[in-house]
Amino acid sequence: MTTTAPIPTSDTVETHGLLLDGQRVTTTSQGLYPHVFPGDGRVNAEVAMAGPTEIDQAVASAAAAQKAWIALPVDLRRDMLLKLSDLIQAEIPALAALSVADNGVASAISAVHPFWMARWFRYYAGWIDKLAGQVPPVSYSGDLNIISEEPYGVVGVIVPWNGPMVMIGMAVAPALAAGNAVVIKPPELAPLTTLRFGELALEAGLPPGLVNVVPGDHVGGEALVRHPGVGKIHFTGSGATARKIHLAAVDTLTPVATELGGKSANLVFADTDLDTAVMLSSFIGPLAQSGQNCACGSRILVEDSIYDQFVEKAGAFISQAVVGDPFDAKTLVGPVIAESALDRILGVVETARSTGSGRLVTGGGRLGGSLADGFFIEPTLFADVDNASPLNQQETFGPVVSVSRFSDEEEAVALANDTSYGLVSYVQTNDLRRAHRVSRALQSGSVYVNTFSDLVPSAPYGGFKQSGEGRLGGLEGLREFSRPKNVRIGMEPPALPA
Ligand code: NAD
Repeated sequence: MTTTAPIPTSDTVETHGLLLDGQRVTTTSQGLYPHVFPGDGRVNAEVAMAGPTEIDQAVASAAAAQKAWIALPVDLRRDMLLKLSDLIQAEIPALAALSVADNGVASAISAVHPFWMARWFRYYAGWIDKLAGQVPPVSYSGDLNIISEEPYGVVGVIVPWNGPMVMIGMAVAPALAAGNAVVIKPPELAPLTTLRFGELALEAGLPPGLVNVVPGDHVGGEALVRHPGVGKIHFTGSGATARKIHLAAVDTLTPVATELGGKSANLVFADTDLDTAVMLSSFIGPLAQSGQNCACGSRILVEDSIYDQFVEKAGAFISQAVVGDPFDAKTLVGPVIAESALDRILGVVETARSTGSGRLVTGGGRLGGSLADGFFIEPTLFADVDNASPLNQQETFGPVVSVSRFSDEEEAVALANDTSYGLVSYVQTNDLRRAHRVSRALQSGSVYVNTFSDLVPSAPYGGFKQSGEGRLGGLEGLREFSRPKNVRIGMEPPALPA
């Protein structure tokens, strides 16, 4: 394993207020949260936390701003979102650095997040003057029937710590394009880039309050879900939290859209190019974001005839990844988000070892030496893993993946689908017919054949089964944040039956 030099430390601890009605507010009902940099375990910022009081204020301000937003000419709204995209684009290096300080994801990956965010804003800005309604024919031919797409008003957007900027691009861009205001609740573990995004929205000319940013934990989150002034909740996070949110939304019957976790299968067939498959599987598996991404290909299923070779090569590839200082451009694998996450992930490794549910090929431990103060786990590969074991059924959300064996296509698909999740699947094959056949049979919202996701805004993204039911991207993403309204205008007095 290659590790980078010790992480340079800083004693600067800046205080970040939440963003309410265009103003930074540092004194809140929930006080300040000491934000820890996962690379060295030290507090690197203090963040104002939102509770019910601040959520109340945020929703009221967003409701007022939404009225101003929807009254603007469409051209102006489109141009403001285009300007916002430009501002994000111009700030990619600074946002990437802020993102590393926020959640410790290596800068090589973090730099992609603001790029994606800018791209989604550009795409959805373009929809603003194109989202036309319909005028279908109706029973009285003279009558006019107009179907329009109406915003929900205020949308509460709850984002996770692992990629707040990605989720802002995917959910906030279409929400604003559809005419809504948003109250964004990033978690206390990674609020910094979302707060900066809120400032960029103001710089782009969006009305103050159209984007309020209220960092917080479950207290602020639940207050947002329960607030009667919120028209819709968009939630990205774990299934466990999604269940609580659905229950909390029952009183107001607020609609909830969810983007949840996965246990994504990566099917490697013998006809594929082995070295490419090893590289791709390692990247989408334990390496990118230290496996802390919803689309992590955490269950690698490999055909019998290349199985041993694959395991050997993948073990070697993974063990050579550069782990360490996430600010260092050479680093591919940074720390995991928190000490509690580190303990949980090492617990998953220990259980797999002690119960014999897999053979440890590489990794499995915490990194010491110059990285001992941070939350670093060696990229880890288990082989010969039983698909029924917790390692193959529960989302680990860390740099730990498994390899299991299959003998034919039918078994590969059956194993891939044998999970309660259904977010993403990967297929490595050079057989075109097989690529189509297997893609159709896989029960997941997205299938990537011989590639990985670069989250294009023009295609829908979302889960099957317990990976959520929301859709972001394309027209489907815009419809997630609008609802059809029907207006019938009678032109002639109706001919009533005698
Ligand atoms: P989490 O469920 O712990 O938290 C997500 C958000 O919900 C945070 O902002 C958190 O503060 C908030 N929250 C917590 N309790 C709440 C409550 N009772 N009411 C309202 N809000 C509450 O998830 P996480 O650890 O932040 O993120 C990791 C999870 O997110 C993984 O399961 C991952 O797969 C998933 N994820 C999914 C996608 C996707 O697009 N499908 C993308 C990124 C992450």
